[in-house]
Amino acid sequence: MKIYKFGGASVRDASGVRNLLKIVASESDNLVVVVSAMGKTTNALERVVNAIWQGDAPAADAELQTIVAFHRSLADELSISWDCVSDILSLYDSLPLFDTAHSFDYDLLYDQVVSLGELMSTRLISTFLYRSGVVNTWLDMPHLLRTDALFREARVDMNTSARLIGEAVSRAERVCIAQGFIGGTADGLRTTLGREGSDYTAAILGNLLEATSVTIWKDVPGILNADPRLMEQTSKIDCLSYIEAVELAYSGAQIIHPKTIRPLENKHIPLYVKPFAEHNAPGSVICATDKKVDVPVYIWRKNQILITLRAKDFSFVLEESLSHIFDIIHAHRLKVSLIQSSAITISVCVDNTRYVADAIRALQQDYILTYNEGLSLLTIRGTTPEILEHESRGRTILLRQLTRRTARFVVKE
Ligand code: ASP
Ligand code: MG
Repeated sequence: MKIYKFGGASVRDASGVRNLLKIVASESDNLVVVVSAMGKTTNALERVVNAIWQGDAPAADAELQTIVAFHRSLADELSISWDCVSDILSLYDSLPLFDTAHSFDYDLLYDQVVSLGELMSTRLISTFLYRSGVVNTWLDMPHLLRTDALFREARVDMNTSARLIGEAVSRAERVCIAQGFIGGTADGLRTTLGREGSDYTAAILGNLLEATSVTIWKDVPGILNADPRLMEQTSKIDCLSYIEAVELAYSGAQIIHPKTIRPLENKHIPLYVKPFAEHNAPGSVICATDKKVDVPVYIWRKNQILITLRAKDFSFVLEESLSHIFDIIHAHRLKVSLIQSSAITISVCVDNTRYVADAIRALQQDYILTYNEGLSLLTIRGTTPEILEHESRGRTILLRQLTRRTARFVVKE
């Protein structure tokens, strides 16, 4: 059993879907194909949610019609009947949106709507593959990947999911098509696993089905030592360890979702990152290896906010309040990217999400708090004095952390 994952960029148009067919058709092993929403559909569905939330029915409808038209023209181009998504569109119609939108929790509403992107994309792709001679089974992940009700960041119940998915796959055709990023609660509500969560789904399926490998097909040659949009010269890393991969993902490398590695490491399943456009190229592999990455790696984590806290009574933050601070941070779902402390202050760098304002209010009750927004965290692994000198030049650096091999700068964007 192998797991293949295709992201939204790979299936953003008909030629992408045809290329997916080529890759899937050339595989003879049992295969679960995990697919994201097509192109920028998730962002568009987020706009639908926001319009609903603001009670703006015409705006929600207009956004939805654009999404429908996009999928419909893709179905036409692939010569498949639009009927295959009609039951998914009726899931939207059955939501009690405008009468009771605010009796819903925002995050709950979000998951009911945004999950439709993956449901539509997989339905179209499954139908297209079938029509092209690849017999397959469409897996209904909201009923198979069981999660809790922490909407937008749902946690997977591995035992129940193992049973449900195991049963479904044992009855299925050799090829299965599954939605990434989405699952469902025991009460039948749809959930999402966090933006860009399809890689994580692929890893979970790899773990639950004890796959021989997981492959993420991407629009890059493999894992690069820097984002090619931000750096002119990049080089491909052929092979890296799970630990190194976790560090990269956590620092903000866009290549894989940070949660992806653990389910694979636990069962020693290799993760391949391969170029979608050139499917016989070797790409990169993350696996159990002692090999060290021998080029410096640059990772940017954008949209950061640096929060500095000092206890109002002048007590030592580290000794007396650390766990209290982190309880608040955790309860507000903040993602910490860096921590630094002095005798009476602690600074944390976090992703600047919509939860930050509430967390700041909560922290201000007990601490004197200052913050800076519009920041990025630059992590350089395998740094040298020359690199440090070069990267420090011309930047406004608010905070720096240095270990033997790694430098981290919080800089103005
Ligand atoms: N479609 C979701 C997103 O855009 C999940 C994913 O692509 O991995 O965030
Ligand atoms: Mg995506």
